[in-house]
Amino acid sequence: MNSKKDWDQLLQFDRNHIWHPYTSMLDPLPVYPVVEARGVRLKLADGRELVDGMASWWAVIHGYNHPVLNEALESQLKKMAHVMFGGLTHQPAVELASLLIEITPKPLQKVFFSDSGSVSVEVALKMALQYWQAKGKTRKAKFLSLAKGYHGDTFGAMSVCDPITGMHKLFTHFLPKNFFVSAPECSFDASWDEKYITEFKTLLQKHHQEIAAVILEPIVQGAGGMRFYAPQYLLRVRELCTQYQVLLIADEIATGFGRTGKLFACEHSQICPDIMCLGKALTGGYMTLAATLCTDEVAETISGVEPGVFMHGPTFMANPLACSVARASVRLLLNSAWQDKIKSIEKQLKKELAPCQDLPAVNEVRVLGGIGVVEVKENVDVAWMQKEFVRLGVWIRPFLNLIYIMPPYIISTDELRSLTQAIFSVVRKVDAKSS
Ligand SMILES: *Cc1c(COP(=O)(O)O)cnc(C)c1O
Repeated sequence: MNSKKDWDQLLQFDRNHIWHPYTSMLDPLPVYPVVEARGVRLKLADGRELVDGMASWWAVIHGYNHPVLNEALESQLKKMAHVMFGGLTHQPAVELASLLIEITPKPLQKVFFSDSGSVSVEVALKMALQYWQAKGKTRKAKFLSLAKGYHGDTFGAMSVCDPITGMHKLFTHFLPKNFFVSAPECSFDASWDEKYITEFKTLLQKHHQEIAAVILEPIVQGAGGMRFYAPQYLLRVRELCTQYQVLLIADEIATGFGRTGKLFACEHSQICPDIMCLGKALTGGYMTLAATLCTDEVAETISGVEPGVFMHGPTFMANPLACSVARASVRLLLNSAWQDKIKSIEKQLKKELAPCQDLPAVNEVRVLGGIGVVEVKENVDVAWMQKEFVRLGVWIRPFLNLIYIMPPYIISTDELRSLTQAIFSVVRKVDAKSS
């Protein structure tokens, strides 16, 4: 299976029969066949190698084909690949849960495993609803979230995503109606002004009796716009949620496990949510697994009243292979000098992306931790830009008007430079193209 003709057939079949993310079946964007991935490099079917700037959507923090993670999977595979979690348990789940409880804020003591980030968000929303039900406050059945937020593609999750980029219009008669405030206007290092939280505060004041929980991505709004906001904002949100008796759900699916320079983005504000969602980098990008953590108070309230149980239980809950590789990935992270590594990635990104700021096509350049964003003025031609990046030997996938990278933490200085240089040279071409 390596002749060009074979690949042409495969790609033709793919084009005709397989959905890719957010893609048309009539006019799909081109896809590139990958045959292998090692470290920070993806090897394409034609032999070209690309330096990966995406970490497969925030997930592959240790790089591809890592010997320690491979070993964790292989040794678990020899024992059992899967077993139901109803009435049974196993060491990988127990040890992973114990690790997660240890490294997240202390009040988070209970763990619910599920199979993807979106599902962990559904679980979090459900927990909040069941919590208020148990307390007899059945009117508290809506959520408050931020514009430009992203929480997943299932219906509950979609209902708290940005109403425009989340395409609520498409499903308007089916989606639950929730409350939104504008996206935070205060950049990460902006000096704080109470005006930044006014809209949020006013809405909470007015509607807290109908609101079960606030859900947000702490500090970094990812797929809804790649925006960073001030820790003080999150701190004020926490205070107001406590004041108005509304739960706080922190969706750390993208930000968790070091990406923003802290192990969890909530640490920038030193706050603890009532419920936290984890996913993406949890398994080092090897398998799909997510977790929803909550406080004793949330768990015990739900469990203390009819029906006395939390109503969720996925077939592949706490899959042993996934738990095993997650346990290995978290340990690998904790045993590495990840803070130093993220700091040096941040420093290099700031230095090397700065020149983009002077290009006419560019609106803003932003860097935080292991995330670099070049926001351009117009939405990009994804197929064209992707092709340019591949030609330059890098894998970067833009969306809307955002060209962004969050590479595996193991990336070398030279490899990272190849990413930033590629961005500069491609964005410079955007200028040429549009003038
Ligand atoms: C990716 C993401 C999700 C959804 O996770 P899936 O595993 O794709 O379902 C939810 N919230 C945030 C913040 C994410 O980045």
